[in-house]
Amino acid sequence: MRQDPATVLLHALDDHAPGEPAGSAVTFATYRISAGEADPGDYLRADQPNWRTVERAVGALEEGHAVLFPSGQAASHAVLADLARTHRRIVLPDDGYYNTRALAAVAAAGTEVRTVDLLDTAAVGDALAPAGAVLWAEAPTNPLLRVADLAALAAVAAGHGAPMVADNTIATAVLQRPLDLGAWATVTSLTKAAAGHSDLLLGAVVTRDAALADRLRDWRTVTGAVPGAFAAWLAARSLRTLPLRLARQCATALAIATHLHGHGRVTRVHYPGLVPQRAVADRQMTGGYGPLLSFEVDGPAAAADAVVDASRLIRAGTSFGGVASSWERRARWAAETAPPTLIRLAVGVEGPDDLIGDVDHALATGLT
Ligand SMILES: *Cc1c(COP(=O)(O)O)cnc(C)c1O
Repeated sequence: MRQDPATVLLHALDDHAPGEPAGSAVTFATYRISAGEADPGDYLRADQPNWRTVERAVGALEEGHAVLFPSGQAASHAVLADLARTHRRIVLPDDGYYNTRALAAVAAAGTEVRTVDLLDTAAVGDALAPAGAVLWAEAPTNPLLRVADLAALAAVAAGHGAPMVADNTIATAVLQRPLDLGAWATVTSLTKAAAGHSDLLLGAVVTRDAALADRLRDWRTVTGAVPGAFAAWLAARSLRTLPLRLARQCATALAIATHLHGHGRVTRVHYPGLVPQRAVADRQMTGGYGPLLSFEVDGPAAAADAVVDASRLIRAGTSFGGVASSWERRARWAAETAPPTLIRLAVGVEGPDDLIGDVDHALATGLT
């Protein structure tokens, strides 16, 4: 039987020998070395104890090799650059995180970028058909929370000889393990739920391909896109409670999504735990449907802005996964493709009834 993610994380984060500190210390200094042949870990740009702690924990969650980066974007960049050496076309979701599309346009220069609806398996197959493609999946997608069938996509990709990368930021490996479903690598922005306190940027790639992990570490050393020691130390501390936080956030998010589904001024609710996404989500997610939901309100964009402004508990903010709830009208970002009145709600760990009361208050006040 597989261990609970909370057990896996605590075990991976506390493997100290007797006499060592039980928590982890933060290491800012460079190293003393021995004379003779150099070791890659001799210099801080190549290796660092606090990165290694986070990599051990994040890797253990998905039973792969983890490589830590200073942000989710830096993690995606490293994977895209690796793929662009040997592939000609990157196929991305048309409703996924818009900065991944922006990144692919600059990071994979010379590579064709094609966007496709991941829920349309036939269209994905067509996009992958000419040889030399890569599939970049994201499930659930940000901000529409659509859930593509990752195992089915991995099978289509394998049929075309294309590696599949999965952006697992919203679910994290606690709720979903894309490597088990056939992904070659997962990318996670630890900035979001994994760190969970809205106070740092970090990202990780996890893969069971040891050669890829080595190339990504070399990329990190050579480009200097390295995480800070303090951010890594904070992340290791936060990861200890990730399963606890997510359990509460997922239960509350489902309750709010269900509540909004019956609300007269809400025209659509997007959440993996609601029909129609739920059937696929139940097959590939365990322990919850994620801390993020979106909904569209009746009226113009200004009405949605008024709802965001009217809340008393939920803060206006653009990240997600943190312990304090926040929301924003997503189309305020010019490059975002979300519908104009879509509000993306990042559910925190406040009392579920308090949050539902605040959402109702904001809808009643904002939509007058
Ligand atoms: C935030 C986010 C990223 C980028 O992560 P950063 O840590 O902000 O660089 C990538 N993918 C998704 C789905 C995200 O939400």
